[in-house]
Amino acid sequence: MQLEFRGANGEVTGSRHLLHVNGMTLLMDCGMYQGRRDEEREKNNNFGFKAEDVDAVLLSHAHIDHSGNLPNLLKQGFNGPIYCTKATKDLLEYMLGDSAHIQEREAEWLNKRKKKRGEEDLIQPLYTQEDVLETLKLLQVLDYDSCIEIFPGIKACYREAGHILGSALIELYVQDKSDGRSKKFVFSGDLGRPNMPLIRDPYQVKEADVLMIESTYGNRLHESLLEAEDKLAKVINDTVARGGRLLIPAFSLGRTQELVVSIHKLMNEEKIVHLPIYVDSPLSVNLTQVFQKHLDILDEAVQKNFLDKDQDPFGFECVSYVRSVEESKALNDIKTPMIIISSSGMVEHGRILHHLRNAIEDHRNSLLIVGYQAKNTLGRKLIEGFKEVKIFGEPHMVKMEIHVMNAYSAHADRSDLLNYISKVERLGKIVLVHGEEESSQDLKLALHANGFEDVVIPDFGDRLDF
Ligand SMILES: [Zn+2]
Repeated sequence: MQLEFRGANGEVTGSRHLLHVNGMTLLMDCGMYQGRRDEEREKNNNFGFKAEDVDAVLLSHAHIDHSGNLPNLLKQGFNGPIYCTKATKDLLEYMLGDSAHIQEREAEWLNKRKKKRGEEDLIQPLYTQEDVLETLKLLQVLDYDSCIEIFPGIKACYREAGHILGSALIELYVQDKSDGRSKKFVFSGDLGRPNMPLIRDPYQVKEADVLMIESTYGNRLHESLLEAEDKLAKVINDTVARGGRLLIPAFSLGRTQELVVSIHKLMNEEKIVHLPIYVDSPLSVNLTQVFQKHLDILDEAVQKNFLDKDQDPFGFECVSYVRSVEESKALNDIKTPMIIISSSGMVEHGRILHHLRNAIEDHRNSLLIVGYQAKNTLGRKLIEGFKEVKIFGEPHMVKMEIHVMNAYSAHADRSDLLNYISKVERLGKIVLVHGEEESSQDLKLALHANGFEDVVIPDFGDRLDF
């Protein structure tokens, strides 16, 4: 049995890991690499392995950095099954469709510039809507906790990863023909946190010969979830008291739905006044409908707080879902307090920029940052306290209040990871992926200190026999 590492090594994007066993090649996740544009093209077009050699894909969840390069895998010759949960399948239709749209638009924009310069080597989008439709046909649904033999001697079990709707950690039971031994391999995918308001707690793995686990926050601790709702309530109440509006940039998948549910709960408990909430992003609207279809796999708190009272956690009198540009623009004319949840999560593009431009120079308004902000993004500048920023090329004074909350992170933090690993009763080797260098190294040291000696941090292209 051999692992081959082809992405998310020393970084948190472009997850792709191969497992060679019994003459078969399994690909775990086929994520898109997201970074600098030139690097993106190179890393997304060149897998470092032949797509046609892959016999099956085991997909952990629908985030684009785990699923976004699947259509390109097909284009390059893959034609096997892609295993995922039912909710992941439903989410992928929108996530991959949106991604293809972005790829097509970007290619169009670059080609326009090339033509102006008289260059003839026009570029192709990484993939198109047609490629996405072909990809969706290959999806094979696996239910949580039902184990199936995907190839002779290879049994796969999908378990709750606690990260986003439909997310799975994957347990593989293998009868290895090369040495006749039976082995258990576990891939965590992205591992969530216990006690999140919407998503169930991660399934606790009991044993593994090899555990390949993410390490995004191997060196950081998140704020307590217990205080998160109180802090959210305070930001909302303070903004309302000033007569301002609250803008929350949020990723369409996961964070947006979590915020809606938390705000709904705060209203039920009378901790905040009833005020209008606008979810302003067509993708967020589509994805929320997928959540509504899969209420049965949400956390038991959702049952207790909403379903038992015959309430729809995502649909209540105060919340409106905004699809059209006209409706979105019309929000600027409303002068009374409101909450707008809109993408993009890092305040880089999309409708949030229009709302920000209109709100940023008024001290009554607030911006609440709830997700990771990469270097050089507008979101990062705002949390770093820049007094002036550019929006659509125009300078603006930052007069609105800026608040940051990281309690809503969908990733296990350092202590969650250590806790999780320490509860695995029989554990051989630990392989750390999906983490920046410092983060993985720091976690490795902590694991050593906790008595786990066999910890590997592979580089891109490394192979590991076991
Ligand atoms: Zn993820």
